[in-house]
Amino acid sequence: MNETVDELLTGPPLGASEGELVDWITRLEEIKCTAEAVQAEAAVRLEEATRARQAEAGVPARKLGEGVASQVALARRVSPVKGAKLLGLAKILVAEMPHTFGLMKAGLFSQWQAAILARETACLSLENRRVIDYQLCSPGSDGEPPAVVTMGLRQLENAAKKLAITLAQEFVVARAVNAEKDRRVSVRPAPDTMTWLGALLPVQDGVAVFAALDQAAKAAQAAGDDRTRGQVMADTLVDRVTGRSATDAKPRIEVKVVMTADSLANDADQPAMVDGYGPVPAAWAREALADAEVFVRRLYTDPAGQLIAMESRSRKAPDGLAEFITTRDGGICRTNGCDAPIRNIDHAERHADGGATSAENLQGLCERCNQAKEALGWQARPGPDGSIITITPTGHTYTSPPPDSWRPDPPPLSRAEFVLRNVLLDHPRAA
Ligand SMILES: [Zn+2]
Repeated sequence: MNETVDELLTGPPLGASEGELVDWITRLEEIKCTAEAVQAEAAVRLEEATRARQAEAGVPARKLGEGVASQVALARRVSPVKGAKLLGLAKILVAEMPHTFGLMKAGLFSQWQAAILARETACLSLENRRVIDYQLCSPGSDGEPPAVVTMGLRQLENAAKKLAITLAQEFVVARAVNAEKDRRVSVRPAPDTMTWLGALLPVQDGVAVFAALDQAAKAAQAAGDDRTRGQVMADTLVDRVTGRSATDAKPRIEVKVVMTADSLANDADQPAMVDGYGPVPAAWAREALADAEVFVRRLYTDPAGQLIAMESRSRKAPDGLAEFITTRDGGICRTNGCDAPIRNIDHAERHADGGATSAENLQGLCERCNQAKEALGWQARPGPDGSIITITPTGHTYTSPPPDSWRPDPPPLSRAEFVLRNVLLDHPRAA
């Protein structure tokens, strides 16, 4: 096949044979790999150019390069966290892993495969990393591609691990210590109004937690409990972490639920929003709130049920406004592609530049995006429709559309229809 990239991207001709179609898929895969390599190269050069510009403007050394990862993220339409990972990988590939990078440029190795090798050599010395790069990814004596290009991902990972252990036994230990720093707990939505609660733990802790729950399940079954093993383990986990139990005084856990008054009081079925989870059916929310102790704040909405402004009962008005912004933005950073939770209420147009402390000019940002925006040459301003327009140092503009719950033209306050409930759920034991 001798088609140019443009020809390949227009797609195979009508009537192409099965063999030609496979060739097309193969060639496009190669182009994707090459494109990822070139993107990496461009990201490295963007960082160099940014650092030079910032240094010239007198930005302190420790802040050089700030904002570059976020620009990469916006350009590649991924989260800033992912953007930082991609930039980090690009720098490693260009500077430290020439053979891996060469395979990518030749269209034989994907960014994902390269990332595995970068990860598995992360704790090694530069010298050892280069050895592994050479041993796994350099071409054969007559130029044929190395075996890694046909390996599965697990095989590739194992090949790198084996070499790493051979080269530096102590790296395994150092890595384990390092990894332990990343221990954490996360929650993400599952179907049917359920959630996945996950924990990344050192192996001894993870195994201990599981064994304790398993023991509780065995004890319950021996006592004639008719719940399944899985149900007892899940219930025990919640009991022990929240401190709830059938006999003790019930602990209070704050959960934020936003729903229309109509959905709460009547049988209306506009979905409610649970902070940290997402939309839930109104009927589910009514049941969950039935016996709960509730703080009510009033939210003003238009007839379409969109969130407009909040009347705060708290003494400090800015807190109320901050809570309103967080609720309006759904608890998630406003940067396009970013899924991180809101940590800062940011003035889109800086306060020092005359930006108002108003719902229009305020946005919820995560830590990282807030910091990126403070880097030299970044600007933002509110759009006319509740959107936020961010302008990066290169002059590229990115528009974050207004959240569902936002309308810039507030209707009369008498149309108040929404309640935001700061719910202290009793955590009743499931029947
Ligand atoms: Zn963010």
